[in-house]
Amino acid sequence: MHRELLQWIEIDASALAANLALFRAVVPPSARLMLVIKANAYGHGLAEIVGLARSLPVDVLGVHALDEGVAARRSGWPGPIFVLGYVPAARLGDALLHDLDLTIVDLAMLTAAEEVGRAAGRPIRGHLELETGTHRQGMGPEEFALALQRISEGRGVALAGLSTHFANIEDTTDPSYARGQLAIFEALTAPVARAHPAVVRHTACSAAALNLPETSFDLVRVGIGAYGYWPSRETRVTFRARQSEGNLRPVLSWKARIGQVREIAAGAYVGYGCTERVSRATRMAVLPVGYADGFDRGLSRTGHVLVTGHRARVLGRVCMNIVMVDVTDAGPVAAEDVAVLLGTSGGEHLDASDLAAILQTIPYEILARLSPDIPRFVVDAEATSQEPDPAVLA
Ligand SMILES: *Cc1c(COP(=O)(O)O)cnc(C)c1O
Repeated sequence: MHRELLQWIEIDASALAANLALFRAVVPPSARLMLVIKANAYGHGLAEIVGLARSLPVDVLGVHALDEGVAARRSGWPGPIFVLGYVPAARLGDALLHDLDLTIVDLAMLTAAEEVGRAAGRPIRGHLELETGTHRQGMGPEEFALALQRISEGRGVALAGLSTHFANIEDTTDPSYARGQLAIFEALTAPVARAHPAVVRHTACSAAALNLPETSFDLVRVGIGAYGYWPSRETRVTFRARQSEGNLRPVLSWKARIGQVREIAAGAYVGYGCTERVSRATRMAVLPVGYADGFDRGLSRTGHVLVTGHRARVLGRVCMNIVMVDVTDAGPVAAEDVAVLLGTSGGEHLDASDLAAILQTIPYEILARLSPDIPRFVVDAEATSQEPDPAVLA
């Protein structure tokens, strides 16, 4: 498989479908489902995920940057796209050109959007983001009141939505801070929602959608969960306590072709800095993957990859484009065999949560930093599970 490639990423279409089906099942039917595809669809490949989303229960795409919205349009997405991040004033016209909804973060951005909408003779669709306690992007109650007033005077922005974002919903089983934010949001937006029923209210990320149905409103914004990862251990614990069924399956696997297999004498040093000295005669595989690809340098000496169903530890430092691993105990291994950096090999499994634990970060970061240059392929693991790749399951 992919004989000509050094490394590639496989996207499991059936896992993405199953994860979205789980969200569809737990989120109230009245709420629409947004799939968040920022950061190259959490490293999965924007074009690949948009292609799949068209035949899945996805109503809206969410992006961070305007250009991601343009890319989603170019990939053929016909439905709504909400830009969740800031857009420079000089680019606001492109929102009209590509029919993108914008997040309005303050009065200055509203003013700039109004000018563009007025000049075009067609209002920009804007969502006002409200400050409810995260203190990230957004406007407080006084600014919100002024913004509503200005929009009602019809100056080039049409009120499409009202949003906020939770501060502390992943890292805790205690939802009290989130409930406080929810109460503020509800108090500020309920009168607007009554007067303008078409305005889309949205607050929920994956963790909120899974565990706090009262945050769903008209739309939930699902990122990490759709890609098969729990937002945190606490989210999984809380979900398990509330629901007996339902699991998430990682969508992405990352594979690389072994370039060389070598025997190293006991006592030899491996790699830059002489940080690793092998204590036994060691069989070592050299992989054409490094920190430039998203295999973090913090995995030096501590990370593993999977080779022929065995865990192979990283030897020495991770280089820019190369990493060495110990395959002494992995059975017969040869150049051109496939190593699994994320995914399953034989009975062994490694995912972004495992790497995140070593690196003291979150799976989001592991996925988002996978180089966009790695080729992505859509596969259907359910359809192909009868025929495992012999190179992987030797
Ligand atoms: C990234 C993001 C989300 C998705 O969060 P997940 O935890 O990945 O589901 C939702 N809303 C906003 C505003 C975001 O920036």
